Amino acid sequence: MMQTPLTMTQMMERAEKYFPKKEVVSRTGGGIHRFTYKQIAERTRRLADSLTKLGVKKGERVGTLAWNHHRHLEAYFAIPCMGAVLHTINIRLSPQHISYIINHAEDKVLLVDSDILPLLEKCAPELKTVKAYIIMSDETEIPETTLSPVYHYEQLLAEANPEFSYPEDIAENDPAGMCYTSATTGNPKGVVYSHRGIVLHSMALGLADSAALSEKDIALPVVPMFHANAWGMPFSAVWFGTTLVLPGPYFTPKLLAGLIEQEKVTVTAGVPTIWLGLLKELDEGSYDMSSLRGVLCGGSAAPKGMIKAFEQRHKIPFMHAYGMTETSPLVVISTLKSYQEELDDEERLELRAKQGTLVPGLEIKILGKDGEVAWDGKEMGELCIRGPWIASEYYKDERTEDAFRDGWLHTGDVVTIDEEGFVKIVDRTKDLIKSGGEWISSVDLENALMAHDAVFEAAVVAVPHEQWQERPIACVVLKDAYKEKTSKEELFDFLKPQFAKWWIPDDILFLEEIPKTSVGKFLKMSLRDQVQKEVLRKS
Ligand code: AMP
Repeated sequence: MMQTPLTMTQMMERAEKYFPKKEVVSRTGGGIHRFTYKQIAERTRRLADSLTKLGVKKGERVGTLAWNHHRHLEAYFAIPCMGAVLHTINIRLSPQHISYIINHAEDKVLLVDSDILPLLEKCAPELKTVKAYIIMSDETEIPETTLSPVYHYEQLLAEANPEFSYPEDIAENDPAGMCYTSATTGNPKGVVYSHRGIVLHSMALGLADSAALSEKDIALPVVPMFHANAWGMPFSAVWFGTTLVLPGPYFTPKLLAGLIEQEKVTVTAGVPTIWLGLLKELDEGSYDMSSLRGVLCGGSAAPKGMIKAFEQRHKIPFMHAYGMTETSPLVVISTLKSYQEELDDEERLELRAKQGTLVPGLEIKILGKDGEVAWDGKEMGELCIRGPWIASEYYKDERTEDAFRDGWLHTGDVVTIDEEGFVKIVDRTKDLIKSGGEWISSVDLENALMAHDAVFEAAVVAVPHEQWQERPIACVVLKDAYKEKTSKEELFDFLKPQFAKWWIPDDILFLEEIPKTSVGKFLKMSLRDQVQKEVLRKS
């Protein structure tokens, strides 16, 4: 067979040739913009030309600090297609972490949304390698800023060559992208994606038994483009000619529901907190969601009650999936096998709430105390993964040794796998609760609590215990309408029939909000501190 390189250039060039009329709908601070792929492809060539003129060389990193919109999409392709490396920066990290990752990645140029300027200005005195800042804005003038030198994105594009030719010497294993994990301890860790990895992962998103993304879809990635490349959706969408709807900055559940309705979105992707917000909006408002064929949900466990509510109350099917920044991210997805469709509602829901089966192209093994665990849905072990879109190391980071061993990525996620190969995430290793020598899954307790009508969100954490080593405490945010009338006892009574006695939390604390990470996951570390203080205060 021929050895043609799998590079991203072919993805954008395919959209340019085959789907020039298809659309990208982009919401920015200035409103909704509509572009054809012909226009996006031309603007992408212009951006590649501008960056080349600014002196960006092959292999150098160009950072983005931006929301999901068309300019970010252009950067997604212009940077790798000119041979440089797209470094998407999580704008919800602290200025210290942002400075750290820009310096660590040695970014040469930064593209930044105008509303994110104040954050970047705070970091700028610390930055050691940045030679130019490009401001992405709908305004014609550069806003006042302390950054220097600054360029206006649209002015650069206006002066650039619309027929810029992408270099042909890009090899498939060359770096194309880079993303730092949203570390909860220590500095974020860098992951470098190759062209080959991105192309193969994009193909996997299109498989009929995975997300089945296709030309016929209208895709709305709600997951930020700085969180594991919006789970690869923008890459696949461009390649397949899928209509893309990019939701821009500061969206609300109302705005998302409106976008889905107006643009007739067929598939969308995001973390459970986004969908909990949307569910509330759908329950209270009146929207036509009939265009939606699937909601891709990952990043943390999708509560069973939420999946049920979407599917039964709103007829919106869920696709629960699991992945990590290190895995591009798709690893497993919960699509049922043909014969499982015949199971009853409750059994199907049980399966769909698991994270699912392995996407073709990857390998997994689950390591327990004594080697690989049995496929019985009970024995727990650490999920290890390998494959062509799995990172093989952290970028210039000694923590590589812990996570990458014997050719496998050791994920730190504790899972079970059942007879049918459905993986269920039990917990992060560090979030499992060890009580009297036995493990309690915080995720299972959270899921059970979130299935109660009164509960909006629930997180369960461990507190140290003299006799049992650790015990679970539940933190619950009640829905507004239930705040006055729901007691701890009611929630305990709800949990008791579902779990062994020793699994039942020692206490339930009612909170106004669960603290979240920069990508919308429960921030268990800070919650643990908060809860431990509260327990000490009470004792
Ligand atoms: P990130 O790199 O920020 O995407 O985080 C990856 C981590 O999120 C994984 O290691 C898991 O702990 C967690 N995660 C991702 N998807 C799921 C899911 N569907 N259910 C439970 N945990 C998940």
